[in-house]
Amino acid sequence: MRAFQFKTAASPRDAANSGTDTAFIAGGTNLIDLMKLDVVAPARLVDLGPLSFRGITVDGDGLHIGALEKMAEVAEDPRVVKEYPVISQALLKSASAQIRNMATMGGNLMQRTRCGYFRDAVSPCNKRVPGSGCPALEGENRMHAIFGVSDSCCATHPSDLAVALVALESVLKLQGPQGVREVKLEDFYLLPENTPDREHDIRQGEMITEIFVPHNAWTGRSGYLKIRDRESYEFALTSAAVALDLDGSTIRDARIAVGGVGTKPWSLPVVAEALKGKTANRDVFAVAAEHATEGARMLSQNGFKVSLVKKTIVRALSEVGGVA
Ligand code: SF4
Repeated sequence: MRAFQFKTAASPRDAANSGTDTAFIAGGTNLIDLMKLDVVAPARLVDLGPLSFRGITVDGDGLHIGALEKMAEVAEDPRVVKEYPVISQALLKSASAQIRNMATMGGNLMQRTRCGYFRDAVSPCNKRVPGSGCPALEGENRMHAIFGVSDSCCATHPSDLAVALVALESVLKLQGPQGVREVKLEDFYLLPENTPDREHDIRQGEMITEIFVPHNAWTGRSGYLKIRDRESYEFALTSAAVALDLDGSTIRDARIAVGGVGTKPWSLPVVAEALKGKTANRDVFAVAAEHATEGARMLSQNGFKVSLVKKTIVRALSEVGGVA
């Protein structure tokens, strides 16, 4: 680890004006890792801990979560468990209990990819060193993406929470030197294209202050299914966040996003559209899920994700829809 300056933010404005080559730190569960590995080496760390980006509130519009809330606190909040179950379930399937007690909601959304080449400071990697190449495209890519892949990068986005929040059409509130703005979470994440080092729609000095999840007819009947190599402390091979609005057994509307397969949390409006007006049953779910992998790009080791993600969607819909 290299030497760096450290300061505590006195106010949002103070943090926002900390200058270039600054990294914001909250729980630190990802950033400190990457600094120890020499993957990132900011000149300055600014601790956001004392700032007031906290609270979990529910009003007529939806759910508001302060960016500095701990993952564990949000996962166990009774209103989140009951009214936004997909969020609670995605959080509880993330990392470990120790990390969830430390890590913040905003930090989770900003975590970096787990691509092994990215985390190995001596390997080439376009995301870490632009223009150096992407060894994963022809190398170890079993865990890598099938959606949003470019000739520059095929790394998956690692957050379970982000998949759930994208499915529910969540919005981020950002604060920076120029003031406050809002951006849809789905748009916040950028495709790698030929600039995989640019991962977010975030400007110099900006920080996430709040996550807003609108209340909709489908939010209460939602769930998160994660398929992984082991049942704890492991990233997704595939995952599905699904939400259904049912009229009896008829699907009025649906929202679906998948994880472990995209270079960003991947929403699937085409699958949701195929469900509308149909009767909730496994056959209908299976037909709709066939649309999920249109446009997928398989690499040498991850072709199994094409069928696995479809099965993940069908099982998640069956569980949430109460279909045996
Ligand atoms: Fe780097 Fe992306 Fe290639 Fe991994 S997949 S080596 S993160 S450029």
